[in-house]
Amino acid sequence: MQHQTLPPGIETILLDAETIAGAIRRMAGEIARDYADRPLVLVGVLKGAVFVTADLARALAEVPGGPTDVQLDFIAVSSYGNAHRSSGEVRLVQDTTYAIEGKYVVIVEDIIDNGHTLHYLRAMLGNRQPASLRAAVLLDKPYHRAIDVTVDYTGLTCPDEFVVGYGLDYQERYRTLPYLAKLRPEVLPA
Ligand code: 5GP
Ligand code: MG
Ligand code: MG
Repeated sequence: MQHQTLPPGIETILLDAETIAGAIRRMAGEIARDYADRPLVLVGVLKGAVFVTADLARALAEVPGGPTDVQLDFIAVSSYGNAHRSSGEVRLVQDTTYAIEGKYVVIVEDIIDNGHTLHYLRAMLGNRQPASLRAAVLLDKPYHRAIDVTVDYTGLTCPDEFVVGYGLDYQERYRTLPYLAKLRPEVLPA
């Protein structure tokens, strides 16, 4: 790990793959307890949450006595603002495939920072009369919250840095890195 050659643009690894996997297993355990006898719909938020959704779904399937009726769906949103942080203006890019009315829904997000994205998703999906609606977020950045929004399952506290990897991008790059990393400052705009 210490002597691993990092790709160009990456300064340091902040959260390694094992740490991420451990957090996802813990979240899966918590969700499994709460939905043991319920049908569950995981709604992953593209593109950032693609890996956390896949890994959480598989971890859930491995919890003894966990939910046996689990469906996967995805939604895509984008927000204006700069490359580092979303603005209050969140836009729906692609809706879920199936209606969620009457379903037990857990939104799966990569990261919460100012909170606008999850707030938008909770409001929009909450309007559709799901049986219940909760949110699982791998990374919590609590430093710049602009809006109060409930996160029911949290993976890890993220340092106050712009992170990439494990689904998270900078200008669509770095998503496929298996860890969460800090970019070299010269890569980011001043
Ligand atoms: P919020 O709307 O809560 O500020 O943040 C949610 C969205 O902002 C994320 O889904 C992501 O698109 C972006 N974001 C916030 N912090 C980071 C970060 O550290 N790295 C990356 N790549 N995206 C972030
Ligand atoms: Mg996201
Ligand atoms: Mg992004």
